[in-house]
Amino acid sequence: MGGPLPRLGRLLRRAAAAAAGAPPGRSGLCSAAPAAADPPRSQGAAQFQLKRQQQPTFGFLFDIDGVLVRGKTPIPAARKAFQKLLSSQGEFRVPVVFVTNAGNCLRQKKADQLSHILGVPISQDQVMMSHSPLRMFKRFHDKCVLVSGQGPLLDIAKHLGFCQPITIDKLRETYPLLDVVDHDRRPKELLRPPVELPKIEAIILFGEPVRWETNLQLIIDVLLTSGYPGKPYPRETYPHIPVLACNMDLMWASEAQSPRFGHGTFMVCLENIYKKITGKELKYEALMGKPSELTYHYAEYLIRTQAAAKQWKNPIQTLYAIGDNLMTDIYGANLYNRYLEENRSRRGSKARFQAKAAGGTRSTTVSQEEELENMWENELSSAVATSCRSVLVCTGVYNPHTEVPFDARESITETAFHGHRDFRFDPALVEPDHIVPDVDAAVDLIFQLENFAPKEPCRTA
Ligand SMILES: [Mg+2]
Repeated sequence: MGGPLPRLGRLLRRAAAAAAGAPPGRSGLCSAAPAAADPPRSQGAAQFQLKRQQQPTFGFLFDIDGVLVRGKTPIPAARKAFQKLLSSQGEFRVPVVFVTNAGNCLRQKKADQLSHILGVPISQDQVMMSHSPLRMFKRFHDKCVLVSGQGPLLDIAKHLGFCQPITIDKLRETYPLLDVVDHDRRPKELLRPPVELPKIEAIILFGEPVRWETNLQLIIDVLLTSGYPGKPYPRETYPHIPVLACNMDLMWASEAQSPRFGHGTFMVCLENIYKKITGKELKYEALMGKPSELTYHYAEYLIRTQAAAKQWKNPIQTLYAIGDNLMTDIYGANLYNRYLEENRSRRGSKARFQAKAAGGTRSTTVSQEEELENMWENELSSAVATSCRSVLVCTGVYNPHTEVPFDARESITETAFHGHRDFRFDPALVEPDHIVPDVDAAVDLIFQLENFAPKEPCRTA
């Protein structure tokens, strides 16, 4: 375990320097220098001018919470950054997708919120929620599924293609004797026998619910009765019915000074309760949202779709994923980059799943791999990008002022790993390619790396 230690120290030093706006200690660490705005001299000038007129060969994947907003409060750098991404006609000059692990609203609502916050028009086709890949899990769409989370869950499920979603509230209403933790919500009188619901054939965890004890109890009931929660627990129900989960974030950045519980925390509770009761592991049919590879695959598909709509002929080769969370944004981008590298080196083979080994989905089933393969083959086609670069900002979950702990080895292993149970800790995957103070500095840096023109319209010589 000697390898990771220098990395942690270097990471923290780089972060502290970035937060202070100090000059970079390694190439790529941005100090928000406006070099991209200065055309190179002499013979490079003509070439630079030509390059300015070229279509982009890169795209942006923006995280939202902690990068563009904290709670409902916009981060000041965000508006500035987005002005640079628009042409003088008000159109995006590069493909942009917002990849959020949030899942409690429809894409259109999130697009409207972003338009308001950023002061630029955002389309729902640019927004990817953690649940967006569920639209590809068609074999569940005609089944009765239990949905857990908050917000307009039935609308979200139906928009994704599910025909028979049932909410926890509906389950509670049908089986009122099941939810008794809160004494005030227990039924006041013995009720008539409940109307039976159809067998629940899968559970979809969209996001953290409001009443955790209710959701935990009823989900466990559904798992232990194979979809008939009104019935007593039979002896053996393993393997349990499929569980598909979106958003594994343990914590997220809101207006509070410290990170708040995310859906990942709820999942930790569910996994541990299930294991404590049954002695067995809760298994996931699919895990969606960052850092899952599936999420980035889908995001790249959206980027490609945008480029095609603009009739940009050059393939989008480099994706830049900008986020505030090492365990989701950085881990996910680096994991997808690893996949792209392997895909490139073994194109045409089944290598695409090799990256998973490092990302670790130890409970992911073979059926999921088969399903993903079919989906990707049929709907997403092969990845075209050759790399995915991770850019960490210091305006959210990541705290650049955290001091290097004495016992770095301990902190970087179990205690510091906030990733999901099924994603193994790998120090290389939580090291960002770049660290910048905020999203505006990230855009400056990326334009500089890509030698992409500043916003001003170019004039032919
Ligand atoms: Mg975030």
